[in-house]
Amino acid sequence: MGIDYDAILFDAGGVLVLPDPTVLGPLLEPYGGEPSVEVHRRAHYAAMAAKSRELEGETEWDSYNVTYVRTVGVRDDLVDHAAVVLDHTRTAHLWRWAIPETLTALAALAERGVPMGVVSNASGQVEAALAVAEICQAGDGPCTSMRVVIDSHVVGVAKPDPRIFDFALPYFAEFERDRIVYVGDSVVMDVGGATAAGLTPVLIDPYDDHEGADFARIRAVTDLL
Ligand SMILES: [Mg+2]
Repeated sequence: MGIDYDAILFDAGGVLVLPDPTVLGPLLEPYGGEPSVEVHRRAHYAAMAAKSRELEGETEWDSYNVTYVRTVGVRDDLVDHAAVVLDHTRTAHLWRWAIPETLTALAALAERGVPMGVVSNASGQVEAALAVAEICQAGDGPCTSMRVVIDSHVVGVAKPDPRIFDFALPYFAEFERDRIVYVGDSVVMDVGGATAAGLTPVLIDPYDDHEGADFARIRAVTDLL
């Protein structure tokens, strides 16, 4: 908090959208999972923290899946099974549930004229998913305007490789790199990638899973207002 910046780049998953808890709630309920949206929101960040602790990259989701199902309360004897079910259901297209605090923040940031963009490790779907979630689009449109929306599948480079940011930074050429914050929910991919690119990383950490970390943390995107 008290973070100073000229422009903001956002990760998509965990910052703009979550894997749809209104689908995953009923999905995991037969295994003992609590279906509430709040519990599922908490599970995502607990699972991301576990993924970061294990230094898992973009394609490894084992600790994420196990931590997620444990956090929603799946029965011990069904954890492995439920983790497989979650892995098969949480497709790229399911990252479509807009985080309410983010919607509030984006409207206010746009009102203030803050330059914004999206840089996401995705599967070619991120622009469509953000439109379905009614969050934003590249350029003018019905939702918040971003200067650019970068999808790793489209550009062929994924975080933590800092070169993915080279596809977005020309749209923010008037700003020094360290005056651009990159907001993500992964220590490995987002804080790591943004730091390597010379940007200022900010981790979204709503439940203080990363207390004592040596990078900036916020509880919600509204903290950037
Ligand atoms: Mg993310």
